[in-house]
Order: sequence, then C-alpha cells, then structure tokens
Amino acid sequence: MSSSSPLLEKLVSELSKLPGIGRKSAQRLSFYFLKQSKSEVEELARTLIEVKDKIISCETCFNFTEISPCSICSSEHRNRSVICVVEEPTDLMAIERSGEYKGLYHVIGGVISPLDGIGPEDLHIRELLNRLDSVEEVIIATNPSIEGETTTLYLQREIKKQNIKVSRIARGIPMGSALEHADQVTLVRAFEGRMEI
Ligand SMILES: [Zn+2]
Repeated sequence: MSSSSPLLEKLVSELSKLPGIGRKSAQRLSFYFLKQSKSEVEELARTLIEVKDKIISCETCFNFTEISPCSICSSEHRNRSVICVVEEPTDLMAIERSGEYKGLYHVIGGVISPLDGIGPEDLHIRELLNRLDSVEEVIIATNPSIEGETTTLYLQREIKKQNIKVSRIARGIPMGSALEHADQVTLVRAFEGRMEI
C-alpha cells in the first residue's frame, strides 16, 4: 500500500508482524478495521489489553489460564494418573477439541533444539519430572519433527528413571505437520493407537 497516511502505514506494518500474516493480509485487515464501527474496534482493542493483563501460565501445567492452577489441573473429572506432554498451549487446545482425552497435561513450551541453542533446561521439563508422583502413564504428543523426536527420546529416558510408563501418540500425523492442524478423528486415533516406548 502506498498510502498517504503514515498512521495507516503503521497499522499495516504492525499487523504484518503477526504470525501467518503477510503484507497483503495486513492491508486487508487494516481496511476491514477502517470499515468497522468505532465500538467494534474498541472491543477488539480492549480484549487484546485484557488478555495481556489477565492471562497467565498455569503454575502446574503451563497452559494459558486466568486462574492458576487452571481448570483442567483443578478438575475432579480428569484422570490424574495420566499426563499428556505437549509443546505449546495450541496443541493442548487441539487435543481438548477432540474431546476424547480425559487426563492431565503438561506444556513444555517448545522442543529441544541444539541448533537453536534450546536445551532441556530451557523448557518446563524439570517441572514435569517433579510432578510424576502418583502418575502411571505419560503420553508424549510432541509434533512430528526431528526436534520433536529428540525431545521425545530425552523425555522417555528421564521419565523411565521413575519407573513410569511412557507412550507416544500414533504416527497418524504426518512428519512436519502440526498437531494443532490435525483433524479431530486423526487426533482421537493417534491417542487410541498410542504405543509404549
Ligand atoms: Zn494447569
């Protein structure tokens, strides 16, 4: 956009920083906001600020929440003997959407990636290893990638030291594709077909 408004230009440039949003999409969104009523835009702006103010990490599982421990960790209806390990809260949300899994979660916050200088100590792995009392099974649901595999192997080794069953979700999800984009049926099958490792 060769816009005559520096302000509009700034909005486009800010929106372009969002994940998955290129310059063209940023322009489209900018025009969309311009056409919206002031109250609609205010609502969005307020929600953004409120999210930043109120959303925190659960002290137990590191999921996003407004109250810590989160509603999953404090629920009486969840199976507390199973913990599913995921990379990010978006993966947890995808699994929750599938509606089949009734255990607890642990969000490690990424994957071990020596090339990027990310080691186990940079993730919430120690916190996971410290909450395994009375846990019978840990299901690893990292994304199918080289780093996901490295992370799985590391977790497997560390968790096995506590004599706890470790399994991994089935490989219905193709290598390189993200868990958060898997459809519900694929996710349900991936859990049902999980293998002990
Ligand atoms: Zn939690």
